Amino acid sequence: MTIQWFPGHMTRARRQIQDKLKLIDLAIELLDARIPLSSRNPMIDEILMNKPRLVLLNKSDLADPEITRQWVAYFAEQGLKALPIDAAQGNPSKEILNRSRELLSDKIEAQLRKGIKPRAIRALIVGIPNVGKSTLINKMAGRKIAATGDRPGVTKGQQWIKVGTEMELLDTPGILWPKFEDQRVGMRLAATGAIKEEILHPEEIALFAMRYIAKKYGDSLKERFGIAEVPQDTEDNEKVVQLIEDIGRKRGALMSGGRVDLEKASLTILRELRAGKLGRVSLEDPAMLAAEAEEAVPQG
Ligand code: GDP
Repeated sequence: MTIQWFPGHMTRARRQIQDKLKLIDLAIELLDARIPLSSRNPMIDEILMNKPRLVLLNKSDLADPEITRQWVAYFAEQGLKALPIDAAQGNPSKEILNRSRELLSDKIEAQLRKGIKPRAIRALIVGIPNVGKSTLINKMAGRKIAATGDRPGVTKGQQWIKVGTEMELLDTPGILWPKFEDQRVGMRLAATGAIKEEILHPEEIALFAMRYIAKKYGDSLKERFGIAEVPQDTEDNEKVVQLIEDIGRKRGALMSGGRVDLEKASLTILRELRAGKLGRVSLEDPAMLAAEAEEAVPQG
């Protein structure tokens, strides 16, 4: 779903989440394992204040497991526990409950010492659109909860969903906005399918994604598309366009006259990437983002 964010939306979304913070023990921040920072809200620390927080790296079935490990270490360095999950195929409820209990152990132990039986842990799931919030809520609930829609500012009566006996989730997730003023973030969100193509051209998105994929996953590309050469110097756009053309030719994405239809080729690549057909592919890793931060490219 395409959504338009305006400063008013952001303020309202932020206020709605902050209102709910009073009701919960724990915030569950849902990120896309393939692009954990690009799928992250830029103001998340401010929004969640000091609420205990569990980070979930969702869609880890599509992400490169080695890079996911690097991300878990990255978050650990920042004092955040991150847990890779696959909300669509797996059922991560038990692991989430265990991690939540660990995070709140001081509070739970203090209650036990005072002879108070700890009540169910209350949690709120927050994340940008399409990161898998509803999928996770339904999975944890064990049934389909009515879709609430990705519309910032829309609320309905709040309900607690029981997850076993030890946890309760707010049925409406907190919807956050990504850092879309950074073009690279927009490209990565588009490449994973989190934002729709109408905003950006498929050629641009495929080119951007391929610069990373060719370098990291050259062998998968050769195997998948039956191509002989994958450029390593992906700073050179021409070489990457050449690669996209090679793939297009293999897939029969041709215009009349036999030239490669670059748009069609790009759409094919993006479709296969999103479906996991290129293997388990991540689109950002901690080392790369550190380098980008140093570059400090002006935001556009
Ligand atoms: P929301 O906007 O955050 O509520 O996201 P949804 O729950 O609607 O999920 C967006 C899309 O991602 C849907 O097509 C889901 O089927 C898919 N999805 C959610 N979780 C996973 C996952 O762990 N793995 C994969 N492969 N797809 C997922």
